[in-house]
Amino acid sequence: MSPNTPPFGEILNFGCVAVFQLLYKDTKDSLEDPKDRELPRKLLQPNKAGILNLEHFNHISNQKIIVECSDACGCSDSCPRRRLQQGQKKRLVVFYENKILGFGLRAAEPIKAGEYVTEYVGTVLTPRSNRDPSYDLGIEIVAEGLAIDSRKCGNLARFVAHACDPNAAFIETHSRIFETDPLIPRVSLYALRDIAIGEAVTICYYSRDKLASGKGIKCACRPGCPNHLPKN
Ligand SMILES: [Zn+2]
Ligand SMILES: [Zn+2]
Repeated sequence: MSPNTPPFGEILNFGCVAVFQLLYKDTKDSLEDPKDRELPRKLLQPNKAGILNLEHFNHISNQKIIVECSDACGCSDSCPRRRLQQGQKKRLVVFYENKILGFGLRAAEPIKAGEYVTEYVGTVLTPRSNRDPSYDLGIEIVAEGLAIDSRKCGNLARFVAHACDPNAAFIETHSRIFETDPLIPRVSLYALRDIAIGEAVTICYYSRDKLASGKGIKCACRPGCPNHLPKN
């Protein structure tokens, strides 16, 4: 049975934590990269105020997943563990930064560390087909090998710029209102630290090794950034 074909009868009695344990917790042995295998899969869940604890978030390791509540949990639509289902609440603006950086995304209201910002929306595709991968966001846990491509169809999240010391992170999210709904790979954007009104919302798109390799385009995320961005 594929890890994404849940035995519904079992899940319905246990809720979101059981969904994680059943579908994601013990499947790390099958990962291709031995480095990923060493890291236990981690379930991230917001607290009662809807805040995720991302204090020790390692943006290079992608072995973290949010499993949102569903009808299997018996909670209401307003449960803080349904952030993605509830939709974007934070006001954001697409902002033309400059000629080098192009468009970026800025906070139009203060965002607190651990708060949900928005979703990365696009078309779910296999990334290995012959096309421009610039707007691909790879899926590793919910459906390994797929990517969300926002090149032709997307939302504000496609404008999130790179920063070597980012203030936000994309996190794979297992989210469906009913356990019988199709499981579509989705990605949430959460703030890693407080983001002030007018501040750019940023993500680190590359590993430390790649940034420090000296190959590629000089990074312009901040004045004097020593890193290089690898070309696709
Ligand atoms: Zn809930
Ligand atoms: Zn940089």
